[in-house]
Amino acid sequence: MATSKKASKKTIASVEETISLKKIKPISAAASRSLTGDRGLKRIMTDAEVLAVYGTPGNTANFTQIITPFPFIIAWDKKIIVQKFTCHKKIANPLSNVLADLLATYGKQKINQLGINLFGGLYNLRKMRGSNTRWSRHSWAIAIDLDPDRNLLREDHTTARFARPEYKPMIDIFYKHGFVGYGPEKDYDWMHFEIGI
Ligand SMILES: [Zn+2]
Repeated sequence: MATSKKASKKTIASVEETISLKKIKPISAAASRSLTGDRGLKRIMTDAEVLAVYGTPGNTANFTQIITPFPFIIAWDKKIIVQKFTCHKKIANPLSNVLADLLATYGKQKINQLGINLFGGLYNLRKMRGSNTRWSRHSWAIAIDLDPDRNLLREDHTTARFARPEYKPMIDIFYKHGFVGYGPEKDYDWMHFEIGI
């Protein structure tokens, strides 16, 4: 069973502060891909590639807003509805296509029922979890987190909600439009999807 405990934003933040990624034993991308079937479309970028393609982290001049085709709610404050995302200009089209495909594939009711509408953040200028030096991909607004409470950083496919079969179409949609998921690639941080290369 996935953890159903409602994690507050504070809880998530404290997890981020205390987590040591060294304690996580990632399985190889090839091995973890076999968990959900090899899509083999894109891979995770190196930091050099992110800098070359997406510029300086936190440079809001590179950002734009997209209107979401269905409403999201903030995972840690479910009273707040989100209908616009701030993202890097270069991912505006692929991300819009992901959202349109999610709506076409699942429909609004199923999206809500599965918690795909639980927004866990996109732009956030911060260091990578477990690192004092490397910028998080969220710093470039090229990554999005969904349903963070049920796809915690340290959860693997045995408990993460997004590893369940009903989410395979969602993961395939992200890959179809050039994104990669840390769940399928690394078997942790299943909430996280970022543009690949
Ligand atoms: Zn993330």
